[in-house]
Amino acid sequence: MIVVANYKMNLNLKDYKIVLKHLNNNRVEDTKLILCPPFVYVPFFAKNKTWYALGCQDVSANSKGKCTGQISASMLKDFDVTHCIVGHSDRRAFETNEDIAGKVKQLVDNEIIPIICVGENKKDEADALIIEQLRTTLSKINAKAEFYIAYEPVWAIGLGETATASYINKKVAIIKKEIKRLGFNNPILYGGSVDEENCINLKKCKVDGFLVGGLSLRTDKLISLLGRV
Ligand code: PEP
Repeated sequence: MIVVANYKMNLNLKDYKIVLKHLNNNRVEDTKLILCPPFVYVPFFAKNKTWYALGCQDVSANSKGKCTGQISASMLKDFDVTHCIVGHSDRRAFETNEDIAGKVKQLVDNEIIPIICVGENKKDEADALIIEQLRTTLSKINAKAEFYIAYEPVWAIGLGETATASYINKKVAIIKKEIKRLGFNNPILYGGSVDEENCINLKKCKVDGFLVGGLSLRTDKLISLLGRV
């Protein structure tokens, strides 16, 4: 299983020192853990990297130049970043599917695995939105590209309400069908209020792993989840 921990804009250096100490003392075999701290802590995570992989929460759609405040994929590569979340619902207010497609291309060109978030805003919303997100964001890469799709129903993020296993399976089937039609066959993760308790039921879903937000702020709970999936 793959587990992506999205720290969003939380914690500080003092906290992250404790997080890494805790994780380094509790290595979990057989689960691929990808930690995604805020940009400024990436060098610290890179320097202290042990058994986990290092990810980021965003990247520029451009390779260099007049992009004040942005970080390029090649800069992330300099710090051994191997994965990067793009299109998270927290960011979709500021970017289009086209922008996200540019980010995905930059990452793939720099051999960083994009974790592409897709998902409907409201429960039972038509699937056309997810299909359009997939079509556009995957439009600039070829069939050999490595990426993960994180299915994250926006209505289930951060609110303590997860989608049911059958709801997730239905959406995952639609995502798999669409990416197959586009020539891909890549891992699919689920994200949306996953915790160390409900993961026992959710791991029965047809997914390859989970993206967790709130849970990453409790390293003890994150470690419990890692041992259960
Ligand atoms: C997320 O931020 O992508 C997420 C899934 O958060 P949470 O686990 O808190 O719902």
